[in-house]
Amino acid sequence: MTQPTVSLAGGGQMPLLGFGTWQLPGSQAYDPVRMALDTGYRHLDTATMYRNETEVGRALLDSGVPRDQVFVTTKLPAERAGRERETIEASLRALGIDQLDLWLVHWPPNGAARPETWREFVAAREAGLTRAIGVSNYSIGQIDELIDATGVAPEVNQIPYSPALHDAKLLAEHRERGVVVEGYSPFRRSNLREPVFAEVAKAHGVTPAQVILRWHLQHEIVVIPKSATPDRIKANFDVSGFELTPDEMARIDAV
Ligand code: NAP
Repeated sequence: MTQPTVSLAGGGQMPLLGFGTWQLPGSQAYDPVRMALDTGYRHLDTATMYRNETEVGRALLDSGVPRDQVFVTTKLPAERAGRERETIEASLRALGIDQLDLWLVHWPPNGAARPETWREFVAAREAGLTRAIGVSNYSIGQIDELIDATGVAPEVNQIPYSPALHDAKLLAEHRERGVVVEGYSPFRRSNLREPVFAEVAKAHGVTPAQVILRWHLQHEIVVIPKSATPDRIKANFDVSGFELTPDEMARIDAV
């Protein structure tokens, strides 16, 4: 199945729609991840901090979906800065795979960009432990610090995003640097009862949640909704059968 992807600066392709796994600790992650893979998601977002890498990896293996068809992201907890290599090795062991698709610095360690950690990320990519590297919750200023210190830009910055947080200037600043924006918490950062979502949803015979996800895709913002509810897991993936008009996009941008 071909899904919309975005090109990463290092040459990889990242599916624009993924499945989030925060607040699905331990065994709570297994069934939702299995269902997501059965539904067709080919992109999983976990983190050392989510304490579910083992279950995400087991669900991936049991799904029977070939490893090379699923984009797997995990993240270095900020407090593990200085222990980068042992942390990625532990993530790979827990996930039961020998290479990540994307490894992110989860938060700026102690609130700082920390180029030493970024150098370890570059080394992990060179060692083949991960295909792509990026950051999360970094400001543009912190990304520039990493670029200035190492000459290497993060391929991705995973940040909170939603129509309410839409910031065209921030998107442009990332794109000028070759950094893909990956949005998180599309629903938790939205008011699903916002009238614009309801009106647009009605026009297309879909739900407000589907409108929000579709809006991300049309902006080429990676989006990783989380759900533990079977119907929602399916509905959140079912967003390719309609297209928002330029006018609808503009109205949602302005929410
Ligand atoms: P989210 O995906 O915006 O929202 C999840 C919540 O929305 C859950 O309560 C879920 O309920 C509900 N929901 C899911 N689908 C829905 C639908 N179709 N209609 C109505 N409600 C729906 O929030 P998130 O988990 O914070 O963000 C997504 C992912 O981003 C996370 O799982 C994680 O992978 C990542 N993330 C990263 C960071 C970071 O610092 N890098 C921070 C936060 C999140 P049910 O589960 O009960 O269905």
